Amino acid sequence: MLSILTTACSETTPSQNPVTEKPSSENNKNQGTTATYEESQYSLKELFLEIGYNKPQENFAQEIVMSSDVPQSVADEWVEIQTSLNSIIGSYNRYIMLITTTNEYSQEIFDRLSEVGWEKELSIVDGHLIGAGCLTGSGTHSDPPDPYNLCIMNYEFIKWPHETKQANEPIAVRKAIIYHGWAHEYFHRYQTAHTLDRDLGTSKDCCGLRNPVESPAWYVEGAAIIFPDLWLRYYWKEFSAFEGLSFENVAVEGMELDRVYAQTKREMNGLEPESRCDAFTADEEMRDTARCNWGIFIAYLAYLTSYQTVWVSIMEDMNTLGFDASFEKHIGMTKEEAYKSYNDFMILENPSGNFEPPEGFFPEGPITDYVDFLSIESGV
Ligand SMILES: [Zn+2]
Repeated sequence: MLSILTTACSETTPSQNPVTEKPSSENNKNQGTTATYEESQYSLKELFLEIGYNKPQENFAQEIVMSSDVPQSVADEWVEIQTSLNSIIGSYNRYIMLITTTNEYSQEIFDRLSEVGWEKELSIVDGHLIGAGCLTGSGTHSDPPDPYNLCIMNYEFIKWPHETKQANEPIAVRKAIIYHGWAHEYFHRYQTAHTLDRDLGTSKDCCGLRNPVESPAWYVEGAAIIFPDLWLRYYWKEFSAFEGLSFENVAVEGMELDRVYAQTKREMNGLEPESRCDAFTADEEMRDTARCNWGIFIAYLAYLTSYQTVWVSIMEDMNTLGFDASFEKHIGMTKEEAYKSYNDFMILENPSGNFEPPEGFFPEGPITDYVDFLSIESGV
C-alpha cells in the first residue's frame, strides 16, 4: 500500500522531502488477495475499523524501537515531536519508528519487525536494513490484514540527513530536516488511516493496489508536504532543540512559504530557466510525469476553501466515495476545473507582476486554530 507514497517525494520534489520514501515491494506477493477482497469487502473494512485504524487514540499510540547503541536522547526527541503531531493530527496506532545502526546492536529491531510480519531478511548491510523505508508497511495485504506503518531510518541519517554532511550544516538545520520528515511521514499515516481497507493511490501505480481510492499523486504528497511546512513554520519555537535560536537558524524545506510561493509562480511564468512546470495539468496525477510544485497547489485549494476541507473533509469521504467524488463534493470543482483555476491564478498576463502571495494565502498561528483533525469520521 505504501509504495505509492514513496517515489514521488524523492523524485519530483526533492527539496521538500527530507525523507526518502523507498518503494516497498510488500504488495507484490499479495496481488492474489484481490479476489478475496471482492468477496468480503464489508468484513475487510470492518476489520480496519475494529483495530481502531482510523480512530485517534487517547494515549500516545506509537512506538519507537532503536538499536541498543542509539542514545536515549534520540527517543526522547522523537517523543517530543510525535507528541506535538499527536496533539494536532491525532494519535494513530500501528505506527512504529525504528532507528538502526548495525546488526550487532539491532536484535530488538529484528524481533519487533518479525512480530509485525516483516518478511524481508533481517540484516543490515552497509548501514541499511534490507528493504528499509520510511514510510513502508507490513501486514497490510496479508490475509487477514494486520497492518503496520513503519518508518525505518538509520541513525547515521538521523544525524546527517541528505547532503548535510558534505555541506557541514549546523545541527539545528539537520534536526529541522528530520522533524519535517517525521511530520510528513506521520501525515501519510493519517491519510492511510482514513482510506481504511482501500489503498491510497491509483490503479496505475505499482503494484496491484487493493481497490485504490484513485487519489492523484499531487493530492497524497501535496497535502503531506504543505502540512510540515505550516507546522514547523509555527511550532518550531516549542521544540527544545531550537531553544534560543531564531527562525532563520531553523528554516528548512518549505518553512519559508512566501519564498516557495514566489519561486513556484516564477516557474509557472517561465522566469526560471530550469523549471519544467509551465502549467498544472493531469500530468501531476502520476509521479513519473509530474513537473510542478504540489504543496502550493494544495495551499491554493485551501485558500479557496479551507484546510479543514483539504486535509479533513476530502479524506473523510475518500473510502466511501473515492477521491474524485470526494474532491468534487468538497471543493465544488472537478480536478480539471481546479487545475484551470490554479493556472489562471498563477500565470500572469504580464509576468513582471507581483510574486507575493495574497494576504491570508498561508495561515498563521497554531494549526488547531484552523483545522480540527479530530472531528474526522471516516468509514461510516
Ligand atoms: Zn511522501
